[in-house]
Amino acid sequence: MLKIILTSLTILLMTGTSLPAADTEVFVSGGKEKIDRIKIDRVEYVSLSQLVEILGGRLDWVIVGHKVSYLTSNNRFEFLIDAPYFRLNDSTYNMTFPAQYFEGDLYVYPETFFPYLDRVLAQKITYSSSQKSIRIDSDYFNVSDLAISAKANGLLMEIFLTGEMAYEIFVTEGNWINVSIRDGKLNSSKILSRRDSRYMYRLKTHQADGSGQISMRMKRPVKNWHHKLAFDPPRIQISIADAEFSIDTAETNAVIGPDDKIDVIVIDAGHGGSDYGAIGRGGTREKDVSLSIARELAKLIRKDKQFKVIMTRDRDKTVTLEQRAQIANQAAADLFVSIHANSSVKRRVRGWNVFFLAEAKNDSARSVEQLENSAFLKEGRDESDNGNEDFFADPILSILNDMLMTEFQAESHDFALMCDREMRRNLDIPARGVDQAGFYVLNKVFTPSVLIESGFISNKTEENLLKDGKYQKKVAEALYKAIKRFRAKYEST
Ligand SMILES: [Zn+2]
Repeated sequence: MLKIILTSLTILLMTGTSLPAADTEVFVSGGKEKIDRIKIDRVEYVSLSQLVEILGGRLDWVIVGHKVSYLTSNNRFEFLIDAPYFRLNDSTYNMTFPAQYFEGDLYVYPETFFPYLDRVLAQKITYSSSQKSIRIDSDYFNVSDLAISAKANGLLMEIFLTGEMAYEIFVTEGNWINVSIRDGKLNSSKILSRRDSRYMYRLKTHQADGSGQISMRMKRPVKNWHHKLAFDPPRIQISIADAEFSIDTAETNAVIGPDDKIDVIVIDAGHGGSDYGAIGRGGTREKDVSLSIARELAKLIRKDKQFKVIMTRDRDKTVTLEQRAQIANQAAADLFVSIHANSSVKRRVRGWNVFFLAEAKNDSARSVEQLENSAFLKEGRDESDNGNEDFFADPILSILNDMLMTEFQAESHDFALMCDREMRRNLDIPARGVDQAGFYVLNKVFTPSVLIESGFISNKTEENLLKDGKYQKKVAEALYKAIKRFRAKYEST
């Protein structure tokens, strides 16, 4: 891969007037180069093919004149000629004007495309339309790298900075270490390439306006940890005193299993003990129905040796919503499935729903949210303090929390769609489909999660179905298929 040696380099674009000719000089010495620029319908495009020569990486033409990929060490851009969209790894973005093919080169609209290049390259790339120049600045990032090393008595993580910077560190549920660096500009591609699956499940970066954040989900509980700012070179040192981190790699993998496996499934039977949930006219209790379905599901999954099942309760007992989330987080759950039955004052209302966590968008979702959160509101009164309430009261922590939640929201939505698809196939009662709502229990689970309302206990027909073993099994089978589908899609091998 070609690499820039100069820290700062300016690319001049000739002020070519008319379309689509592009005679352009390249200034190299003293940090100046030149690449072609074309004008089509008064919009100016620059040659990405030529820029790649300077930036490094390579272009792959799948079909010349149609589809082009730009590959850097960790990322892949994909363009379709004449389409204003491009893909960056697994996401699609809009760059306003289409990618162009001209005389064997790929051209892009720099103003909307370059901000994406910044994200993945170790350089800040600025386009000036008035000066017809591109400035490449390698010194732009002030949070440059991350190093992780096992020591005799624990783990040392170092975040390299270009100078002294203010930072804060929060350890949050699910063994997340979150480092927020004030005015930090993260060299994300470099930092993300340091993920070490021996010690962590995930490594994330988030570039906000006033800060840069790095989050690491560790494989072990983060208890005895310290941090300090060190110098020569400037860096944030975070040490975790935990001898388990220092054991041999092979052993670590044997204990924890390979990284990115989707194998720990937490099944949450809603309600239980003194919390009956909703009650049907025939006396059927939601807590019993949810437990029966949860047990059926656990039985199915346990037969499949690929998975490990953890139930938040396997008998009739009281478990707070807080405890349910804790069980899931401590188990480092890969998926969380909460099972419930719905209820309405209108007895004719029927059907099943799949919910994932997000803001409720309609009244019907809001009423389910209220129903299922009522246990938490009750809990809140007598269990005022275990330190966790502050987690959501602190604005910085809630930003971090939001960031993690957004991370799981897309996968939760996808998993909800898979549940929906399998339930439509397996169940005969009306499908109310996928919806979103703000469930407390899902809100504290740091993994993709859904809440299933398996039918209306307030409706006579469905009450009978819900207590029927055959129906319970059908719901469980649908969910099991959805879990397998999710694993097939998201588990990296
Ligand atoms: Zn419920």
